Amino acid sequence: MLAPTSRERLVVIGNGMAGCRAVEEILARDPDRYSVTIFGAEPYVNYNRIMLSPVLAGEKSFDDIVINTTEWYADNGIELVSGDPVVGIDREEKTITSQGGRVVGYDRLLIATGSDPFIIPVPGKDLPGVISFRDMKDVDTMLAAANQGGDAVVIGGGLLGLEAAHGLSLRGMKVTVIHLMPTLMERQLDEAAGWLLKTELESRGQTILTGADTAEIYGDGKVEGLRLKDGRDIPASLVVMAVGIRPSTALARTAGLAVGRGIHVDDHMVTSDPAVLAVGECVEHDGQVYGLVAPLWEMCRALADGLVAEPSGYHGSVTSTKLKVSGIDVFSAGDFSGGEGAEDIVLRDASRGVYKRVVLRDDKVVGAVLYGDTADGGWYFDLLKKNEDVSEIRDVLIFGQAFAQGGGRADPKAAVAALSDDAEVCGCNGVSKGQVVATIENGACTLDAVRATCKASASCGSCTGLVEQILAVTLGDDYAGERAVKTICKCSSFTHDDVRREIVAQGMKSIPEVMQKLHWTTPDGCSSCRPALNYYLLCAWPGDYVDDQQSRFVNERLHANIQKDGTYSVVPRMWGGLTNPKELRAIADVVEKYNAPMVKVTGGQRLDIFGIKKDDLPAVWADLNAAGMVSGHAYGKALRTVKTCVGSEWCRFGTQDSTGLGVQTERMTWGSWMPHKFKIAVSGCPRNCAEATIKDFGVICVDSGYELHVGGNGGIKLRGTDLLCKVATEQQALDYCAAFIQLYREEAWYLERTAPWIERVGVDYVRSRIVDDEVGREALTSRFLYSQSFSQDDPWAERAAGKDREQHAHLGEFRPIELLAAE
Ligand SMILES: Cc1cc2nc3c(=O)[nH]c(=O)nc-3n(C[C@H](O)[C@H](O)[C@H](O)COP(=O)(O)OP(=O)(O)OC[C@H]3O[C@@H](n4cnc5c(N)ncnc54)[C@H](O)[C@@H]3O)c2cc1C
Ligand code: SF4
Repeated sequence: MLAPTSRERLVVIGNGMAGCRAVEEILARDPDRYSVTIFGAEPYVNYNRIMLSPVLAGEKSFDDIVINTTEWYADNGIELVSGDPVVGIDREEKTITSQGGRVVGYDRLLIATGSDPFIIPVPGKDLPGVISFRDMKDVDTMLAAANQGGDAVVIGGGLLGLEAAHGLSLRGMKVTVIHLMPTLMERQLDEAAGWLLKTELESRGQTILTGADTAEIYGDGKVEGLRLKDGRDIPASLVVMAVGIRPSTALARTAGLAVGRGIHVDDHMVTSDPAVLAVGECVEHDGQVYGLVAPLWEMCRALADGLVAEPSGYHGSVTSTKLKVSGIDVFSAGDFSGGEGAEDIVLRDASRGVYKRVVLRDDKVVGAVLYGDTADGGWYFDLLKKNEDVSEIRDVLIFGQAFAQGGGRADPKAAVAALSDDAEVCGCNGVSKGQVVATIENGACTLDAVRATCKASASCGSCTGLVEQILAVTLGDDYAGERAVKTICKCSSFTHDDVRREIVAQGMKSIPEVMQKLHWTTPDGCSSCRPALNYYLLCAWPGDYVDDQQSRFVNERLHANIQKDGTYSVVPRMWGGLTNPKELRAIADVVEKYNAPMVKVTGGQRLDIFGIKKDDLPAVWADLNAAGMVSGHAYGKALRTVKTCVGSEWCRFGTQDSTGLGVQTERMTWGSWMPHKFKIAVSGCPRNCAEATIKDFGVICVDSGYELHVGGNGGIKLRGTDLLCKVATEQQALDYCAAFIQLYREEAWYLERTAPWIERVGVDYVRSRIVDDEVGREALTSRFLYSQSFSQDDPWAERAAGKDREQHAHLGEFRPIELLAAE
């Protein structure tokens, strides 16, 4: 139908969610002002794009998601030109041209072209069967592929990718999700919630590969599979790329409009040309671009107000997200990156799979992440948007709106006091409230005492808070909250030993899993517990645990020692303290090439190259590697050096080949991560020139064999070794050494050196495990050797090969787009 010519002509480019909504808002204010023509590239009427996921999952049909039917366009005198994209704008003439050759004049032009999916520039990206997830055509392609069955790969573990994976999985495909980052939906979820999500999706049969980078998609004429940069190969008849979106700005840019990341608009959605408006995902307002619908509703209101009524103006949006995967409740809003001044309130309920985190700054909610129970998401979001002071309800905020606004304002201890005596407090040990109270009344006045007496809170620890409240209620002012138990850190009520035991008992293999199951009170732990957990996990599960680089101190992350001027020192390994011309030449070359101001012989008989700039580290490692040298781990909580004397080969007093044994010992033990640094020495006779009696493990060769010494330390608190035992052969010396190291690795607390550990447990205990228990010793030795089969990869070689740099370069290619919120 042709609109009356007296009306102003409004042409809309884009028949999507924002374009049509803007028209609806304008019509609601002044239905007679414009004659409207809408051009859409897709051959459909306006539909609800966010419901494509339920269509894919089979929960809705296309008809269910249509927003405006053909009748709506007709009833409102709107001409819809669908399936015919606009290809040019002439701002001088005020006309647009469509691909089909239509030229239409306008008084006002509205650009609502949405976004283009980002396609990773990998080989094979153009093969048939590689698609994005953006429109109805993509859904049809996926449904056709699913009808054939087979394997699908979804690249991108953001909202969109996971919804695609869910749909394809429900349609019967075997789905693998490949995500570059370590955490799924990292823009919306923190590590803890991301881990819960991953666990849930895996339990539904999907394969989730995090930290996985695509090298290529391959196939003969159509997609057949995908190869990762680490060499893994995944067969696939369909590859869905859902790695992010970019505002669709090409048309606006060609027309000479101001464009940054999106089309620049003011508060009334007017572009740099007063006759041209823009709205939706294609725009940039006040430096922000958006990838969710809530902001575009607000933009459309502001646009219509500005065009036909009182200008209200758009002032930016705060967004929240939910994942539309049935049975998985995830909510996230605002800023949960933490940082200076941010405080976290965390609630974890391991058995229900619930994780809630509210982030406060200056007593205001600034972010929230909810997993498993999202009922209060809207309430937190409201508090956040209104910037409300929550200091009054802070204690009970995390329990949700009902509690905070109802009885929860009352003393939280009242709820504990009201518990009946037979209410179960400690599920692990079946202890009731009455038993805990009786224990306290009988003299157990601290948490430790309660744990020791009635076992409440002594196992998984999830009831620790409740037991402490019962202590407080029962003892009143006499309870000072004192705990003799030394917990791993302030984030947990567990001791180091508890954590180690539970990691093994519950088969836990990642830091987020430990934090969720052991009820950590902070979202991601702290600088004390993270490195400890990382170590405990790698010690318990050497073959299965993937190292968490972020949980290592800077020296271990950069494989060098940071020095006081910010430069690094680098120590190559010299087996048993031996070296040769090739190694010396390589070291000399590195010193010259990188202007290292100093080279020093260390106390452990290695050469330490000082003053290397951080940026030069990979090149230094590469050069030293090329000469066959590997990292000396001088930076790590790890085996450092095996110091030797010259022994029988050269020395007049030597009875055994101490140098040879030192080399063998170092070859066996290098690369091993430990609770703290670990040093070994081998001396060729009791004169002990290698100073073996102040080392963590020392060997003194004597006429009849080898004396093994343990627990020495030359640090601040000098400690001479204890004699462990004497053995007859070199092989025994090696086996006992491995067993001792493994016992230390398995039982000492992180950052506890052998000297304090032995003083804590007693040398008799160590003897009973290594000397008296032959079967136990052999088991320790073999566990050590097994773990070494995973740890003797040279970290320098990996980094010099550019493993992490490659990852960062890739990130730089496309991650900066904030729009990934819509993934
Ligand atoms: C599968 C999926 C699930 C989503 N889930 C959610 C969710 O749960 N929550 C949420 O808030 N958001 C979600 N989103 C994002 C949401 O759909 C977008 O924010 C919203 O659609 C943006 O509206 P828009 O009008 O700016 O762009 P679009 O809705 O994409 O509309 C743009 C339209 O312009 C057309 N067009 C482009 N160029 C031209 C041209 N030259 N000529 C004519 N027409 C052209 C396009 O074909 C398209 O139809 C989801 C997106 C997808 C793809
Ligand atoms: S420890 Fe004995 S064998 Fe070794 S260098 Fe000294 S004197 Fe010689």
